[in-house]
Amino acid sequence: MTERYGFHRARQRMVEQQLCKHGIKDQRVLQAMRDIPRHQFVSAAMAAHAYQDSALPIGEGQTISQPYMVARMCELLNLRGNERVLEIGTGCGYHTAILAQLCARVYSIERIQSLYSLAKGHLRAIGQGNVLLKCADGLDGWTGFAPFDAIVVTAGGALSSTWLRQLQSGGVLLMPEGQQRDHRLVQHRMENGKVRKSQHDLCSFVPLRKGVQ
Ligand code: SAH
Repeated sequence: MTERYGFHRARQRMVEQQLCKHGIKDQRVLQAMRDIPRHQFVSAAMAAHAYQDSALPIGEGQTISQPYMVARMCELLNLRGNERVLEIGTGCGYHTAILAQLCARVYSIERIQSLYSLAKGHLRAIGQGNVLLKCADGLDGWTGFAPFDAIVVTAGGALSSTWLRQLQSGGVLLMPEGQQRDHRLVQHRMENGKVRKSQHDLCSFVPLRKGVQ
């Protein structure tokens, strides 16, 4: 099905005005953001707002992240195309789809059953094949497929040492760390058994929670 021209144009504008203008330079990330139809990851009622510079509700009190934040997180991961990436917090599957354009395979975990099903439908609808989803508590990581080249956590909270144990040597873990809604993107790079930490953008994410719902 050909895409409605208005959505296509709105997405090109999103890339120019929200991403390029605010310093996103990785051409692969910009291309993925041009290619993935964000409006197909939100409800019909929200579709007209899909290319705004903001997070949007996706149900269950959760959100689809702001486009800039998705692009910024992908840029910080510095993916080259052959990586296996673990995502904690699938939500509606949008960030998952962008990651899937940038690496070999994405393993993504969502704790809320209805969002897991929603994301599955969205990813199937756009024909994204290199993604494996499961409904579980992401705080446990995904032992069966570890170690990962990169781990990205898309809900805010505290670092879990379980994730670091599932990270490949040379790998990167990126997450919004902090309390309540005050977070900062923190990158942990595993180098020769030691973790090197760097701090990045201030941000605000929905909280990481324990258990499955
Ligand atoms: N990646 C999404 C962001 C979704 S919001 C995007 O494309 O925009 C964060 C998601 O993390 C929510 O859906 C929430 O339910 C989920 N989450 C929070 N704690 C979790 C946990 N322990 N395990 C798995 N998912 C979790």
